[in-house]
Amino acid sequence: MANSGEPTIFDKIIAKEIPSDVIYEDNLCLAFRDIAPQAKTHFLVIPKIRSGLTQLSKAEEGHKELLGHLLYTAQKVAKQEKLDKGFRVVINDGVEGCQSVYHLHIHVVGGQQLSWPPG
Ligand code: IMP
Repeated sequence: MANSGEPTIFDKIIAKEIPSDVIYEDNLCLAFRDIAPQAKTHFLVIPKIRSGLTQLSKAEEGHKELLGHLLYTAQKVAKQEKLDKGFRVVINDGVEGCQSVYHLHIHVVGGQQLSWPPG
């Protein structure tokens, strides 16, 4: 899917127009379980307002605080999910990064032994 800047499925999740399994929410971001989990625990952290951040490589100076908040939230929710033995954070960017939804999101996977390197 190309990066058109059009609304994505995540806008519908933010607007609660479609159901999702939300596990954390604050004024800036939302964390919900991935519909196709790639590990025992797999959730996404997304900004509530995309503000140009269709993908990480579109980040500008003004996004730095939000990006920090998203990463901080990823580890906070990982603790809430009891991923005490470790977890992995992934951001897929663009076509070669296998990004499919063009609304910035952080994947957090864990709850089991992961391997490295990824494919
Ligand atoms: P990407 O490939 O990094 O863009 O990741 C997009 C992720 O969104 C994939 O892991 C999908 O499984 C996930 N996803 C797509 N639609 C939904 C949904 O409606 N609810 C929860 N996760 C979704």
